[in-house]
Amino acid sequence: MNAAVEAAASASAALKLPAGVVTGEDYRALVAACKAGGYALPAVNVTGTNSLNAVLEAAAMAKADVVIQLSNGGARFFAGEGMKDEAKARVLGAVSAARHAHLLAQHYGVCVVLHTDHANRKLVPWVEQMIGFSEAEHKQTGKPLFSSHMLDLSEESLKDNLETCARVLKRMSPLGMSLEIELGVTGGEEDGIGAEHDGADNAKLYTQPEDVAEAFKLLSMIGHFSVAASFGNVHGVYAPGNVKLRPEILKRSQDLVQAQFKTPGKPLNLVFHGGSGSEKEKIAEAVSYGVFKMNIDTDTQFALAEPIGKFVLENPKAFQHQIDPVDGKPYKKFYDPRKWLRLGEKGMVARLQEAFRDLGSAGKSVAE
Ligand SMILES: [Zn+2]
Repeated sequence: MNAAVEAAASASAALKLPAGVVTGEDYRALVAACKAGGYALPAVNVTGTNSLNAVLEAAAMAKADVVIQLSNGGARFFAGEGMKDEAKARVLGAVSAARHAHLLAQHYGVCVVLHTDHANRKLVPWVEQMIGFSEAEHKQTGKPLFSSHMLDLSEESLKDNLETCARVLKRMSPLGMSLEIELGVTGGEEDGIGAEHDGADNAKLYTQPEDVAEAFKLLSMIGHFSVAASFGNVHGVYAPGNVKLRPEILKRSQDLVQAQFKTPGKPLNLVFHGGSGSEKEKIAEAVSYGVFKMNIDTDTQFALAEPIGKFVLENPKAFQHQIDPVDGKPYKKFYDPRKWLRLGEKGMVARLQEAFRDLGSAGKSVAE
């Protein structure tokens, strides 16, 4: 280890924060500690208290900090799909999840970042309404409800994308909140881009470092932000060979911004979207270039579903009869939701141990 790396590592080792949801200065310090320490946090999509609690349990088990995030669909589900006003459900579900996390996170003894996932142009009002809740919270407690939000306007022109991001960050910054933006196109079902792209030959799959520099120039004047850059990553899991990850694109962006704006090393806070199913070496390489957060959803969804499916297949009668029609055996202890939902939670907890290891964050919690 050279002297600079050693100093950075000890600085990150020295950071201690109260356990619980981190916002404002604490959030910034946590991001800096991740980058200095050469590790990243998994950002896990949750859809209810089962998945949210599983993330807390997993983080506590790994002694790691973690990002809990909600997509607009996940937030709506959190509020209940029976709620008629879908737009309202998307806001209230996210707020409900945030309040749940605020109440519980500190008792799990780790630091938790609260974030919302991809919001395209149509969902800008969703983000703005959630910021309204953070403004109200900030008035009462001095802290926002969420640590950060994300805007994904990567399908629009760079100008339109950055103008909207600047406007929203201006409102978030006085609350100590951070904004995640997306530049370039990350393929995948969640983006509605699907599999029509053909991997390495499609220049649109790779973010241009010049665009990242443009974003830095504008947004670094306004507040704290992070960038999801496309380096061949695809949302969801695809058959191998469909996509070629090129993390060196991230390094090029860091180097360009550092040279152009005369900043210290790794000036950008980078985010890895579409982490599910990625090669471990490419994950490690991306983290070494300043990625502090990697989204994981598809893999944890499967990890939750798989053990439940196995349990149902092994005990089919318990999911068809309350009492066995032949021998009268009661099946209550099989169909009790605590039985099979718990198996799903455990599956998710186990998969997340792997994620913490891949990202180098196991054992690195800054919670005191
Ligand atoms: Zn994305």
